[in-house]
Amino acid sequence: MSLPASLIRPQEDEYLNCIRCGLCLAVCPTYREYKNEIASPRGRVALARKGLDGELELSPNLIEQMYACFDCLACDEICPVGIKPAELAVEMRHVQEKLNPAGWKNALFGGLVKVPGRMELATLPLRLYQKLGLRWLVYTLGIQKLFPGQLRDMEAMLPHQPTRPLRQVLPETTPAKGESRQRVGFFLGCVQSLMFAEESAATVRVLARNNCTVITPKDTTCCGMPAAGYGQMDLVKDHARTNIELFENSTVDVVVTDCATCGSMLKDYGEILADEPEWAERAAAFSAKVRDVSEFLMSIPLEKPRGRIEARVTYHDPCHLRRAQKVWQQPRELMQMIDGIDFIELPESDWCCGSAGSQLISHYETSLKVLDRKMENLKSTDAEMIASGCPGCQMQLTTGIKRRKLDVEVVHPISLLDRAYTCGETAE
Ligand code: SF4
Ligand code: SF4
Repeated sequence: MSLPASLIRPQEDEYLNCIRCGLCLAVCPTYREYKNEIASPRGRVALARKGLDGELELSPNLIEQMYACFDCLACDEICPVGIKPAELAVEMRHVQEKLNPAGWKNALFGGLVKVPGRMELATLPLRLYQKLGLRWLVYTLGIQKLFPGQLRDMEAMLPHQPTRPLRQVLPETTPAKGESRQRVGFFLGCVQSLMFAEESAATVRVLARNNCTVITPKDTTCCGMPAAGYGQMDLVKDHARTNIELFENSTVDVVVTDCATCGSMLKDYGEILADEPEWAERAAAFSAKVRDVSEFLMSIPLEKPRGRIEARVTYHDPCHLRRAQKVWQQPRELMQMIDGIDFIELPESDWCCGSAGSQLISHYETSLKVLDRKMENLKSTDAEMIASGCPGCQMQLTTGIKRRKLDVEVVHPISLLDRAYTCGETAE
């Protein structure tokens, strides 16, 4: 079956040039677990090629291999001829959506995720579950042990919920402490606002403390990564236009985010809207301003914290920070500015943790296999804390730690910095 000519499809050089060298197999987490060509980047490229050439039907089985990819980008990085199997897998999901649109995806990402107020309402039961003491009761009575394994793991990944989403309480403008040297736009990600409010509040405190006036537009929508992961590229463009316009109106010098996934998506807006004459230039200008918070802080004169944190700390590289944004030194350097921290490298720190957004839900077995390896590596460090700048990774690591009953705290690097500032003040 040949595909309609009108379909926007991956460029041929994205898959035709594969020389089948197999280098990508050595870095692929799904191939490492199954040793099966079909679960490898090379296998996915071959399947995509046959599907696009009309030699194979774009069947649910073929598309499933595209969804089984963790989008960790390790294959894109290592390929000697520039094939991007991870990108191709995501594009194939888009092709399938164009041919056979799934109504529920549009309803989920366009109707719910796109509207912050609806997301806040939809997650209210989670906040009540914790705030009314139900979670405490579940753990005190050991009820969670009766949950089916996957539900138990999904419950375990829930962080401590804020009373209200941060979007509702954070002021639109947070003045710099002292002289203001920069106007920083803060992109508050959905998961940060809903689940990691205290972390992002810490990020804003740290920025303000370091002479930044922080502007947080309240009407930002999701960065678009969840929609992209499910082939909804038209929706991603909608998200991008909304967010670009909001930050243009805020006239900021840079746009900072403390979510690795959001950061990698925002930096891609220029490419995503490159074919739209009205938006191409604006999107490129916006993306050029985007910085991960650790990247930004290490580029300005940063106040050294006076407080000490006595802890052995290790670090997990989020794929969308290390590979998509090439940011890996800055979070390490930032944490090592704090006196008392005994930093230890995590073996295979740049291997995926198995989260990939929703793989613990959609590909539970594989996600756990990948997570198990991460936990073995974590155990070998004897660390008391593991830092990571991505909410998805943090939740996945929390699940792994609870499964293994390890005594390790999961933190964001900027939260550590904020703690060190606070300890320094109380010690004075
Ligand atoms: S995708 Fe790249 S690394 Fe993988 S087999 Fe093809 S050419 Fe080699
Ligand atoms: S992105 Fe990661 S999981 Fe997907 S094919 Fe590449 S290496 Fe494998």
